Amino acid sequence: MIKAEYIWVDGGQPTHKLRSKTRVLDKGSWLERRAELPEWGFDGSSTGQATGEHSDCLLHPVFHCPDPIRGDDHLLVLCEVNGADDLPHATNTRALLREVAERFADQEPLFGIEQEYTMFQGARPLGWPDGGYPAPQGPFYCGVGADEVFGRPIVEQHLEACLAAGLTLSGINAEVMPGQWEFQVGPEDPLDVCDQLLIARWLLFRIGEDHDVSVSLDPKPVRGDWNGAGAHTNFSTRAMREEGGLAVIEAACDKLRARHELHIANYGEGIERRLTGLHETCPYTEFRWAVGHRGASIRIPLHVAKAGQGYLEDRRPCSNMDPYVVTRLMLESACG
Ligand code: ADP
Ligand code: MN
Ligand code: MN
Ligand code: MN
Repeated sequence: MIKAEYIWVDGGQPTHKLRSKTRVLDKGSWLERRAELPEWGFDGSSTGQATGEHSDCLLHPVFHCPDPIRGDDHLLVLCEVNGADDLPHATNTRALLREVAERFADQEPLFGIEQEYTMFQGARPLGWPDGGYPAPQGPFYCGVGADEVFGRPIVEQHLEACLAAGLTLSGINAEVMPGQWEFQVGPEDPLDVCDQLLIARWLLFRIGEDHDVSVSLDPKPVRGDWNGAGAHTNFSTRAMREEGGLAVIEAACDKLRARHELHIANYGEGIERRLTGLHETCPYTEFRWAVGHRGASIRIPLHVAKAGQGYLEDRRPCSNMDPYVVTRLMLESACG
């Protein structure tokens, strides 16, 4: 028998969350025939996606990979949610990205997402002293040593699991606030990077369970003089990656400026708490792009400016952002 963990995005407010449940499949038929994974359903009235009288929602498998936690031939299965009418549910932002990604596929867009997150034990970030604060932030970013970084066993286990699942992770690092870390997914095409990010998030939450650690995607988990958590979204088209690409990148920055407010409104709940102008951010009320500037909305990495081609980094998206929404808006704004 194969245990297939069906994963989907719920209707949680103000931020959608991940849900999952297990379906046991007949191993012979799945492995031999490579049959399509079956569609399934769930009780939408328990996920903020339906009312009790019309509660059935449908799960359509769209991406699957080996389940590194259960091992063997077990699977993780990411699904789109449809309503009882079998049309994309209002929470199904992936369906909207599908259309837009197809429209701009000839520009060969690639995305790489830096997912920051904070580990909690009870009400406190992991490694924080009882009823107080650790030393002011400074030494923790990319730190080493039991007094500098907290949670490395979880982080290592998560990286290993993502690689075993076949996800394209390009790196991990400890972040500026103690208990905060980052992993990077991509570069991949729009749908793949988003699907992989959701699987990677699910694995992180799931592995945290075994350590009694909960993972928060709150963009400003601790008030005061502590860095927030973002999801910097790196983006390129083929023209940006080729010789002379810097001019295309700069033109894209100006196009992104024109829709700044729309992007801010869709880059994750709590963005006003995070983009204050302090802590390596540009205030959410302003837009500026610059080379190598961590206080810019869009940063062109120094090595990209030097090479004259490459990609840009949108620093505005929050850790809790919906990747299908962020990548869709970036495609529409920069490629349209
Ligand atoms: P930093 O912390 O300096 O902002 P990271 O090394 O954490 O940068 O992340 C860089 C990201 O850029 C990675 O997610 C990587 O996948 C992505 N990336 C690299 N090249 C490209 C490219 N050509 N197009 C889109 N994204 C890219
Ligand atoms: Mn990074
Ligand atoms: Mn970071
Ligand atoms: Mn970054």
